[in-house]
Amino acid sequence: EDQIKTMDTLVDSGRIKKKDSEKTKVTENVFDEATLKALYTLSNKGIIEALGGSISTGKEANVFLADGREDSLAVKIYRINSSTFNSMEDYILGDPRFRDIRHTKKEIVFAWTKKEYRNLLRAHEVGIKVPKPVLTERNILVMEFAGKDEKPYPLLKDVQLEEATAKKVYDILRDYIKRLYMDAELIHADLSEYNVLIETEEMEPILIDMGQSVTPEHPKADQFLRRDIQNIVRYFKKYGIKSDENEFYTFVTKD
Ligand code: ATP
Ligand code: MN
Repeated sequence: EDQIKTMDTLVDSGRIKKKDSEKTKVTENVFDEATLKALYTLSNKGIIEALGGSISTGKEANVFLADGREDSLAVKIYRINSSTFNSMEDYILGDPRFRDIRHTKKEIVFAWTKKEYRNLLRAHEVGIKVPKPVLTERNILVMEFAGKDEKPYPLLKDVQLEEATAKKVYDILRDYIKRLYMDAELIHADLSEYNVLIETEEMEPILIDMGQSVTPEHPKADQFLRRDIQNIVRYFKKYGIKSDENEFYTFVTKD
């Protein structure tokens, strides 16, 4: 009740406008008070001019469309009490350094949000198509909206590509995985047809969802890289693209 009141205050203030009352209604409950405050901060800073409808409700985050000063934005809000963080919680529980679990949980989510921002920026800087990150505020990541006319670009899994386009998309992804590894020193670590958007004008892939991305020093880096490669190889088989995972791996990791 308190949350909804705060949301109403925010909406009534006119700074975060209700663009679509139906959609916004559903989203009211997902904002805890701290998140509302963070959204309020973003609106005060002039980053978000109006909060739009929900784009996605995932396991660990919700993504919304928003109006920025100039362009449309995507606002990814990580849930503090997401189930995904339970394993981290388990890991931390026995550790005497982390006594205040509530405090810690929040900090983990904030750190995770910043990590996704930094990973996207690093990818962007080496010329990989990703939503360009704008900033983070607590558990909120603001980034470029990847879509057209308020409609997000489709996921790779949801588009039917022509044979030649499939080959092009595959080749770009191959290049992106290598560039990510070699130049940005990152492994996506959750790469699949579910985390690639297809920009429908040029039919080019855009990588998203990089919170879990790791550097090559991570103990599981190699395992993650091999899994990313496997997922891409497996998916493009249906387009008749034959590729060898070991050759792909060598292509990515060797100069
Ligand atoms: P899930 O649990 O469903 O995997 P997630 O929490 O991992 O979601 P993302 O994969 O980053 O979060 O985003 C969820 C969905 O929101 C994406 O599948 C995509 O459709 C949409 N989306 C994310 N970022 C953007 C963006 N910058 N522009 C447009 N749409 C986006
Ligand atoms: Mn995802």
